[in-house]
Amino acid sequence: MTKTIFINTLLVGITVLILCALLFFGVQYSRAKDETLSSLEQEARYAERGLMMSGSDYLESLGSSDRITWIDPTGEVLLDTREPLPAPNEIDSPEVISALSEGSGNCIRKSDHTGKSTMYYALKCSDGTILRLSRPMSAVRSAIIAVSPVFWIIVIVLIISGLLAYRAAKQIVQPINNIDLDHPESLAYPELSPLLEKISEQKMTIQDEAASREQMRREFTANVSHELKTPLTSISGFAELMAAGAVSDDKVKEFSTDIYNESQRLISLINDIIRLSQLDENAPMPEAETIDLYELSGSVVDSLKNIAQQGRVSISRSGESAKVTGVYRIIHEMVYNLCDNAIKYNRPGGWVDVNISDSPEGVKLIVEDNGIGISKENQKRVFERFYRVDKSHSKEIGGTGLGLSIVKHAAQYLDVKIDLESELGKGTKIALYFKSF
Ligand code: ADP
Repeated sequence: MTKTIFINTLLVGITVLILCALLFFGVQYSRAKDETLSSLEQEARYAERGLMMSGSDYLESLGSSDRITWIDPTGEVLLDTREPLPAPNEIDSPEVISALSEGSGNCIRKSDHTGKSTMYYALKCSDGTILRLSRPMSAVRSAIIAVSPVFWIIVIVLIISGLLAYRAAKQIVQPINNIDLDHPESLAYPELSPLLEKISEQKMTIQDEAASREQMRREFTANVSHELKTPLTSISGFAELMAAGAVSDDKVKEFSTDIYNESQRLISLINDIIRLSQLDENAPMPEAETIDLYELSGSVVDSLKNIAQQGRVSISRSGESAKVTGVYRIIHEMVYNLCDNAIKYNRPGGWVDVNISDSPEGVKLIVEDNGIGISKENQKRVFERFYRVDKSHSKEIGGTGLGLSIVKHAAQYLDVKIDLESELGKGTKIALYFKSF
């Protein structure tokens, strides 16, 4: 930042100085030119007077440092103080043309005599002849060089402004580097206050998010420990009783079934935890594939038909073929969890339908049931980890409390929108919106 401010300040300084120098030398040049012209003009007038009174000898005797040419109205050179006759006809010279028509004329052009840039002034004498004086432009340049100390002053000013720019840049940046983000009110620049307020707000948000993440982690660990401990305690208790021979032969089958069921619960709980942590990791998505949601839903419905029958719930699929891109395993799990819930939280004689429809906005998959429904206040919480509406019956209904949480995380992972509509006692409708293929 110091470097940028320094370079920019220096550039501004250099530009201003260069412009000033150009302006200064421009003015000097124009002034020197005007002075040279008026001096030639004055000299020409004196010379004309002398010439008219004393003839051409006067011009010879003048001993002027400027070249003097006396030209007759036809352009023929009568006398030239620098060039011996015969000299070229001067009728085409611009200053001579002006002098013949207007009484006087001047111009700057390359001299045929010296080949150098020269200023000419021509004056029409009272006898109609032309008196012309010329002076090389090097004289004008010399006048500018005479002010060359100004050039060195400019260079010195440039160096000083460079040093000042460096110092100023450092002075501007230092207070910014020294800002105490915990106490931004001690700021040297009030203009930066809005920015610092935003940084401070962001910092607070990050801290809050970190705290809530930490809280969620703690709750998750506590929930996992509790959920794992319950079936393990049962398994351990049943096994202990059986080992101690405290279980009669006719009860062994019942105890073994309980141990099996509890183990299955443990396995599905651990599987769900693994899935959730995989989705949480935000790992790069495996190669996305084209999936027909209608076909996928058909396979989910088929695999759940027996379970639905056991609960005396009918399950069907409706709609049309619709293709999306995604990961088959993850989408299958989402649809499976939604259908599994729709069967579990239903009543004998109830129904579940999976409907797939395609539209320009995307593909919509709806899992709808006419089961027990979810109250408004619980609708906000059912996607939380381990949240169950009816904890007292969770053991007999089954489930880990992670099903909808997995659906939510999978939806985030695949950029799918979820919409939940439910009415207690009437049923539930959960829609997944996939982006169009
Ligand atoms: P679980 O493994 O307990 O089913 P979920 O995360 O899948 O956990 O669901 C959380 C809670 O949301 C469930 O305990 C249940 O009370 C409620 N729920 C989910 N789906 C439905 C549904 N289709 N109908 C009624 N309640 C539901």
